[in-house]
Amino acid sequence: MDRQSDIIIVGAGASGLTAGIHAARAGAHVLILEHMDKAGKKILATGNGKCNFTNEKQGIAYYHGKNPAFVLPALRCFGVKETLHFFETLGIYPKKKWDGYYYPASGQASSVAQSLLLECSRLNVRIAYNIGIREIKKTATGFSCHTKQGNFASKCCILATGGKAAKKTGSDGSGFLYIEKFGHKLTDIVPALVQLQGKQSFLKEIAGIRADAKVSIYIENEKMAENTGELQLTKFGISGIPTFQVSRHASLALSAGKRVFALLDFLPDVTAKDTLNLLKRRFGHYGAGKNAAQALLGLFADKLNDVLLREAGISASKPANRCTKDELARLAGTVKALRIDVVGTKGFDDAQVSAGGVDTDEVNPTTMESRLVPGLFFAGEVLDVDGMCGGYNLQWAWSSGYVAGTKAALCSQ
Ligand SMILES: Cc1cc2nc3c(=O)[nH]c(=O)nc-3n(C[C@H](O)[C@H](O)[C@H](O)COP(=O)(O)OP(=O)(O)OC[C@H]3O[C@@H](n4cnc5c(N)ncnc54)[C@H](O)[C@@H]3O)c2cc1C
Repeated sequence: MDRQSDIIIVGAGASGLTAGIHAARAGAHVLILEHMDKAGKKILATGNGKCNFTNEKQGIAYYHGKNPAFVLPALRCFGVKETLHFFETLGIYPKKKWDGYYYPASGQASSVAQSLLLECSRLNVRIAYNIGIREIKKTATGFSCHTKQGNFASKCCILATGGKAAKKTGSDGSGFLYIEKFGHKLTDIVPALVQLQGKQSFLKEIAGIRADAKVSIYIENEKMAENTGELQLTKFGISGIPTFQVSRHASLALSAGKRVFALLDFLPDVTAKDTLNLLKRRFGHYGAGKNAAQALLGLFADKLNDVLLREAGISASKPANRCTKDELARLAGTVKALRIDVVGTKGFDDAQVSAGGVDTDEVNPTTMESRLVPGLFFAGEVLDVDGMCGGYNLQWAWSSGYVAGTKAALCSQ
């Protein structure tokens, strides 16, 4: 194998492959070093194997990090339109779902990974697998990668080693070690888009229930985030998309030793006043001959009814029309704000992404080049950027990969 290239990319994931393709299209001689035996393993797991690869709704609100505006220049030059065009040229016919989420028409994430690899091969982007990198050094002429398989040299280097989530797909955090050696600062790296663990023992009783609900996250009694959608109750806590969307805030706060709780609203479209009126009707007029649990039948799942009543201090067997105004007010409050004390997350292995990474203050957002080490570029989740659930993390991988690849190609000429 040719040991000298214009650009070495470390990591053959979504951002590394995209960077490689665009660098090669710009005329650079590219080598990708990958420590796994395959490229794009994480792509295969995305969107439950279907790959939600972008979203028609874009904007700063869908991205997080120390400086969310960092994403804007990359999204402006390689946003949804460019992404759809890019993938269409690779053969991926996009299918948009009602909510603006895009998937490949094949319904297979593997077709996205394969089409990127076919394009790499067409452009002669070489990928070396099972590479064990010992050290990456800046030299007088560029970079030198010392690996168990020998040394590789290049004029520029793109680090696209991902975050720390789902390490079985290859992103084990080892890339951060090289980055720190270059003198770059890392922001706190925590699991995001992840299930949250709760303290309440009643969780075991309602495990398996799915309900449309609003999840609000409070940190030290202050509301930080909320999201509505299909909540999944599990024996350890809460899951489902609304939980994922707020989880980064909980995760960061927990890692800083702060107190976190979630309030679950099981009637998110109904005001507090209307919830109370609804319960008064169900327990009063319609409640004749029923007990309290039976008065809730048809509103929520049975097991949830039992828990809501218990948390509101009402016996499930109490005749519905004998429940007092105060009891119904307490029940309405519980329905609108069932409290779960959040004691942890399910961790990096179960997370879809990690929040945190290379401090974006030290990276040029229009080129993805390090402000500390000329010729060193970053792409993807390795940076302190994490997107919401809905195709935003892959969009960031494509956008930052495009910018890093094209700018590194220019830099290496
Ligand atoms: C279960 C799951 C579902 C997801 N679903 C979606 C979805 O539907 N839509 C969406 O937008 N996002 C989704 N994501 C997130 C998305 O997959 C990632 O944000 C994206 O893949 C990040 O791309 P990346 O190139 O930065 O990193 P990765 O895809 O993680 O790639 C990093 C690559 O670098 C390699 N590497 C790491 N360290 C080294 C090293 N030291 N030496 C050599 N190689 C190294 C790794 O093996 C890997 O190949 C999902 C994630 C998971 C885990």
